[in-house]
Amino acid sequence: MVTGRFGGTRLARAGAGVTAAALLAACATEQAKEPGSASSPAASQRPQPSAQELGPPGATPRAGEVGRIPPSGSLPPVISSIPTQRKVVFLTIDDGWEQDPGFVRQVREQRIPITAFVMRDAVEALGAPDPAGGQGRFVGRGKWGYVRLLRDAGVPIENHTLTHPNLRTLGYEAQKAELCGTSRLIAKQVGVRPTLFRPPFGNYNADTRRAAKACGLHALLLWTATVQPGGKIAYQVPDKKLRPGDILLLHFRPNLERDFRILVDKIKRRGYELGNLDAYLKAALRRAK
Ligand SMILES: [Zn+2]
Repeated sequence: MVTGRFGGTRLARAGAGVTAAALLAACATEQAKEPGSASSPAASQRPQPSAQELGPPGATPRAGEVGRIPPSGSLPPVISSIPTQRKVVFLTIDDGWEQDPGFVRQVREQRIPITAFVMRDAVEALGAPDPAGGQGRFVGRGKWGYVRLLRDAGVPIENHTLTHPNLRTLGYEAQKAELCGTSRLIAKQVGVRPTLFRPPFGNYNADTRRAAKACGLHALLLWTATVQPGGKIAYQVPDKKLRPGDILLLHFRPNLERDFRILVDKIKRRGYELGNLDAYLKAALRRAK
């Protein structure tokens, strides 16, 4: 059932996750102490190793850590969180309106694991973002070139439709056109075909899952909390606490670099690690023995 990006090559590199987590922790402090470390001036003049050479960023699952998400019939499962007891959460970011180069730098240099769900009309600036997020400075600045920079920083680029419709209002064929059209476009522009789908507004129905399957998408990814401007976490649970396996939803909004710094500090202060979503999904969606 699980093929493609969840397959062999990523698995082979999973051991690098420990190093990645350590590096991330080091970069989060004011400065790394050892000379020649990744954030020293001398290191910045050397060619930087690519994300592929360093392996996937973020924590990867320990043996037996992740519970299994059972298959739901023959259709892709709908996933809101990862079944684990470890204090690990996952960052996902949607749409693609504000294309701040500072954010890509931050993700690349600090090796922060995020998964991007991009929407064509946002990436190509066909229209205008929701003004509630504030005045954007980089809307449509890099278009698909910006998404390729994210890819080069190690960010998986996933499917969030062409036009951001409420899918529940569309029939099967129209939904399939949105999902397959986006996967084709991402494959052409970014070079990797998506395997995950995030429905706009979290709205989906049985036709969405059928369409996702027809378009080669392995799972629908929802979320357990959203991140607001200022790095504030809006929980969907009454006790307002992070929980192991939470999936957090952000947007490509103005001031993302600052908000992201606040958010990552907050998560670490609460004793949580940032997890590699691909590696955890692969473990959670494993076949029954
Ligand atoms: Zn969206």
